[in-house]
Amino acid sequence: MDISPDTTHDGLRGGYPPWRRRQQAAGRPLLAANMRCEVLVVGAGITGSFMAEHLSARGHEVCVLDRERPGLGSTAASTAMLLWEIDTPLTKLTQFYGFERAADLYRHSLRAVSGLKELVQSADLPCGFRPRHSLYLAEAGTNPRELLAEHRLRERAGLPGSHLDHRRLLSEFALTREAALLSPGSAEVDPVLLSQALLARAGRHGASLLAGEAVSYEASAGGVLVGLDNGCAIEAGKVVLATGYTMPEWLDAPLHAISSTWAIATPPQPPGTLWRDRVLIWEAGENYSYARTTTDNRIVIGGEDDPDLADQSARDEAMAAKAEVLVGKLAGLWPKAIPRADFQWSGAFGETADGLPLIGPVPGRPRMFAAYGYGGNGITFSYMASRMIGRLIAGARENWFDYLAVDRPVPLGA
Ligand SMILES: Cc1cc2nc3c(=O)[nH]c(=O)nc-3n(C[C@H](O)[C@H](O)[C@H](O)COP(=O)(O)OP(=O)(O)OC[C@H]3O[C@@H](n4cnc5c(N)ncnc54)[C@H](O)[C@@H]3O)c2cc1C
Repeated sequence: MDISPDTTHDGLRGGYPPWRRRQQAAGRPLLAANMRCEVLVVGAGITGSFMAEHLSARGHEVCVLDRERPGLGSTAASTAMLLWEIDTPLTKLTQFYGFERAADLYRHSLRAVSGLKELVQSADLPCGFRPRHSLYLAEAGTNPRELLAEHRLRERAGLPGSHLDHRRLLSEFALTREAALLSPGSAEVDPVLLSQALLARAGRHGASLLAGEAVSYEASAGGVLVGLDNGCAIEAGKVVLATGYTMPEWLDAPLHAISSTWAIATPPQPPGTLWRDRVLIWEAGENYSYARTTTDNRIVIGGEDDPDLADQSARDEAMAAKAEVLVGKLAGLWPKAIPRADFQWSGAFGETADGLPLIGPVPGRPRMFAAYGYGGNGITFSYMASRMIGRLIAGARENWFDYLAVDRPVPLGA
């Protein structure tokens, strides 16, 4: 699919998500002379924002560089369900990597959402954050026993949640699927507000936000010399790549692929008509969809992924048809909803063959780190990346970090 290092925000997403109405312009100086900094974060989406906030809070001298407006790349298209449940079910991840490793990864993901919640609450970040339970639905037409097997394996891994059979699902949630897993520990947020709040906090910790495009990276005596499009250079002790789905072309990540995805948001729904506890609803599987609510009572529903629609113009062309399908899916899922799309949007969507992010040292490039939180848990993984890379920069590492290595091979059966 046509995403290159030069793809701009307009090539990453189209249409109008509800978040973008609240965007603020952040003034950023253009670099006019060479400079040095301790850590340079390239990319100021949600991933770069978590990185900047965390590293500056740990006392590092941080610069964040973005060639466009911070937070308005893929981050602005996100439906921002902060799930700890990974796109790849635990049963499947166990087939790829064995139970211990798969369970460990799930537990780290659970801890990431709870760490994110602690950060948002302790720093009082204004970003529409709400803790939510998630409801993982059995895919229509599949054997409900598969979901029970997933539940049992999760229990064995010490993960929280309960299994709802058809009767309980119907009586407690008025949903008609065969079965579901109800789990605490997830959340929802406004992704643009969260990114902006993190960057503002990083600024208060002394981080600088700069306008400019990184075009080259060379090892230097002081770390890494990063060349910018205007001819200036930043010499950084360490560099973190947080460029979203636009990776430098020399970065070898065999697991990674780009698809296209769509979402809609309804008008605000009348009081008392939303589903119980506003749980985050999602289903895995090829023809998956997911739904959440917003602080102003809209329903957001997304999915309809298509790896063959290559660029933003093709996504735009398909928008009306995809929106119609999503409205139809909403009517099937929740007949009480006003079945109309006030907002419709689309975006490129980066995924990996095992559903896990690409985080850690950049192979063959000393002092460079990659923070690519791909998949439906992109934001959870962005938070995870900031904590992992914070540890790596401090010279510490943990064995499980290797599970997310950028150059790990595609697992058998994926
Ligand atoms: C429709 C949709 C729904 C989604 N839903 C969810 C969800 O419910 N939950 C979830 O967790 N995740 C979800 N995701 C995934 C999540 O949105 C992404 O993982 C996340 O936004 C990626 O953030 P990022 O900061 O890595 O990338 P971006 O937001 O794209 O930021 C990267 C930044 O890097 C800058 N940049 C790139 N190259 C350079 C360069 N050379 N020099 C300077 N700057 C550069 C860009 O300008 C950009 O601003 C969804 C994604 C989409 C598209």
